[in-house]
Amino acid sequence: MKETKEFQTESKELLSLMINSIYSNNEIFLRELVSNASDAIDKYRFVALSSEGKYPIKDYEIRIIPNKKARTITIEDNGIGMSKDDLINNLGTIAKSGSKDFASKLKEAKEKQDLNIIGQFGVGFYSAFMVASKIEVLTKTVDNEAYLFTSNGEESYTIEDSKKEDTGTSITLYLKKNTKEVDYDSYLEEYKIKDLIKKYSDYIRYPIKMNVSKETEVDGKKQTVIEDETLNSMVPLWKKNKNDVKDEDLNSFYKQKFQDYEDPLLSLFVKVDGTVTYDSLLYIPAHAPYNLYSDNYEKGLMLYSKGIFIKDKCPELVPDYLKFVKGLVDSPDFNLNISREILQQSPMMKKIADNVEKKIVAKLAETKKNDFEKYQKFWEAFGEHIKFGIYSTFGGKKDTLQDLLIFHSLKHNDEYISLEQYKSEMDKNQKNIYYVSGENLTAIKMLPQLEKYVKTGVDVLLLDKKIDEFAIMMMRDYDKVEFKSISDETASELSDEEKSEIEEITNTNKRLLDNIKEALKNEVDDVVISSKLVDSPVCISTKDGMSLEMEKTLKEQSMSDEEKDSIKAQKVLEINPNHELFKAFSSIQDNDELVKDYASILYDEANLLEGREVTNKVEFVQKLNSLILKALNK
Ligand code: ADP
Repeated sequence: MKETKEFQTESKELLSLMINSIYSNNEIFLRELVSNASDAIDKYRFVALSSEGKYPIKDYEIRIIPNKKARTITIEDNGIGMSKDDLINNLGTIAKSGSKDFASKLKEAKEKQDLNIIGQFGVGFYSAFMVASKIEVLTKTVDNEAYLFTSNGEESYTIEDSKKEDTGTSITLYLKKNTKEVDYDSYLEEYKIKDLIKKYSDYIRYPIKMNVSKETEVDGKKQTVIEDETLNSMVPLWKKNKNDVKDEDLNSFYKQKFQDYEDPLLSLFVKVDGTVTYDSLLYIPAHAPYNLYSDNYEKGLMLYSKGIFIKDKCPELVPDYLKFVKGLVDSPDFNLNISREILQQSPMMKKIADNVEKKIVAKLAETKKNDFEKYQKFWEAFGEHIKFGIYSTFGGKKDTLQDLLIFHSLKHNDEYISLEQYKSEMDKNQKNIYYVSGENLTAIKMLPQLEKYVKTGVDVLLLDKKIDEFAIMMMRDYDKVEFKSISDETASELSDEEKSEIEEITNTNKRLLDNIKEALKNEVDDVVISSKLVDSPVCISTKDGMSLEMEKTLKEQSMSDEEKDSIKAQKVLEINPNHELFKAFSSIQDNDELVKDYASILYDEANLLEGREVTNKVEFVQKLNSLILKALNK
């Protein structure tokens, strides 16, 4: 029975783009279909190997059959085949790519009529509609079901029961009519097909075969004979000799295998032969994978054993903090027939994972040293993950990761510095590594707490990411120098002389400070004379470790109101004793009521200076107005 089905909406959009495309790089269709064919054989091979003889081991191959007369090109594999559901789910829908990101890329491409975006995205099967006006997919599963899927790439497709000899899939493209711009017939030429296979699919591990015609001489007469030829070299890229692999090869392999349109930022080709033996290709993308922060993102590396595919995503092979790393591991130490559970617990797995982690960290360290510009790109994309690595292991990874950290700092403007550099630039009297946190760099640079550091030239790390302070708390120190937040009330390093000066001002203004404290008892835990401020009258600091930024982050992350309420930073209002405002308050310190009345203005000023909201806007305006009126009516 023949059934007609509608394509899913997004698929239709993509198809119409493909159908109407004059994308100059439409040759990638062959690469996409061959890669699907190879995956299908991988899957069959795995099923057959673990079927204990139920499914036969075959001579795996991908075959390309051009037919000049019919103007068709067929790509055939003897892989896993597709059931009816598979056809509907895989070909009737933009399969895995049906993500938001893809949909938006699609929209963008449509608006700009720019297929470059699409072409680089790895659109798989649908790319065939760039060159074909009709496609037939004849397929047979290991359960001996066979179907014929046909579509002209418009609204709908049909599926009907069919017959096929061997399991696997045969995809026939009916080429579009030649146009002025595109000579579709060229895809029927042997030389063109050979070129394309060499260019895009050389490393495919199964033979890609084609009947080619050859001129020979038999008894002095020229004759054309047809011979079966394997077009690819079949050596998986990671099995090749290191010297034979160029960066270009690594990059194009990455783009194809991991469906990225951009070259990776870093690629690593690792061959290890020691207590563990494995080959690996590891990649750090140039940008975060679109779904990295969604719940359904799966970290992991592909797993192979002796060139045989085992698993698509093996999460055990990379730690959480490196979840953005893509790649594959091929180790002869894994037995194909062992169960997934045993595989996960295998000590070999752990050893390889540790080794992989080391290699990646070493590569990052090397990049930081030799190509800082590139490293900054890495940092902008994935720096938070490195900090997460320190935080989530409660500092366990501190020694491994601390030298990968880079920060903005007060003295270095918008350049990044490492902790090593910070330390090396410290004055010999400086006891701590100072930092301050805030919403973003602009807001941080406006914090009044920084005034003294600007004046004295002591550098301060500017932390603009939520995770920063949490990671630093876990580290405690770098190379024996402790971290200290300048928002901490006790941050300043004071001489004995300065200390006694502050003490004295505090004593003479005790009544004033007590009154302000009383007036603000719902807002702050303490009111003190500050040693940090130069120009600003007030600032808010904290004590006991939790900063205001941390308070905000923790509140955002907590579930219940109860939990939210229990999170509270200990706030301290600091007053600049050298400021006119303080002097004015000091002169009216006997007038308890007046001091209490205006105390909230001090607190709100601090909030405003630090980029926060005032607590009670109406009250703030009323008090301000009463002051203005007093001043004007004088
Ligand atoms: P992708 O390969 O990116 O998943 P495609 O559109 O190329 O997207 O293919 C969608 C799905 O269709 C594949 O994931 C696979 O499950 C299935 N598929 C495509 N070609 C074949 C084939 N030759 N044999 C078996 N399954 C196939």
